[in-house]
Amino acid sequence: MESLDDHALAARIASDTGDLLVALIKDPSQARGWGGLEYEGDRAAHDHIVAELHRCRPHDSVLSEEGHDHPSRLESDRVWIVDPLDGSSDFGYSPHWSVHVALVEGGSPIAGAVAVPGWETTWATHPRPEPITQRSAGVPKIVVGRSRSHYDGRLLQEALGAEVYAVGSAGVKAMAVVRGEFDAYVHGGGLYEWDSCAPVAVARAAGLRCCHLDGGELEFNKPDPWSPGLIISRPELADQLVEVMSERAW
Ligand SMILES: [Mg+2]
Repeated sequence: MESLDDHALAARIASDTGDLLVALIKDPSQARGWGGLEYEGDRAAHDHIVAELHRCRPHDSVLSEEGHDHPSRLESDRVWIVDPLDGSSDFGYSPHWSVHVALVEGGSPIAGAVAVPGWETTWATHPRPEPITQRSAGVPKIVVGRSRSHYDGRLLQEALGAEVYAVGSAGVKAMAVVRGEFDAYVHGGGLYEWDSCAPVAVARAAGLRCCHLDGGELEFNKPDPWSPGLIISRPELADQLVEVMSERAW
């Protein structure tokens, strides 16, 4: 039995999976045709994470973007929610992809890690990320999804005068807030629990506020893993973002 605690196990698996994916990018024998590397990355990362979790935590359930959804997870006390490769369309083309590993108990993530190999960093719930420094004066800097920039970005620019940036991968966007590059990550459309679970675990450990567009509590390991929107924000900005975004809450 693995002796690591859940925080360290999440970090080790996310980090090792990131290394495995970097090795895949560097492997000259990998197919470079449209979607070939992305497909292989999804598959290899999923297989590695599931094998490690089964080896180290044989009694826990797993919900993976790339796996079959077993309804038994709804009866399980401990469920790992993983995205083996988040931002897969950037995989091999930019640093904006990540690996998400989180453990949920009672609907909340209690441990987790996000690896961003392009930034050579894995963030975890313990040890906690460095506390975020005081926000610099001036307009808020907000990161949104590339597919959402015309909707969320425009709304936030008009309502708050925000500087808005579009980046791929939910994990990368959330960690960019954790490391102080942006003040918030706002996603006004639907996303899946594997997109948000580990990023939320780590962001909360860093002292950020994480909630639905209407300010409501996030819940994980629901029967339908679809989730209507997400805000990850410096605490002092969160209420303003909820006010702007709540009108679009589904
Ligand atoms: Mg994925």
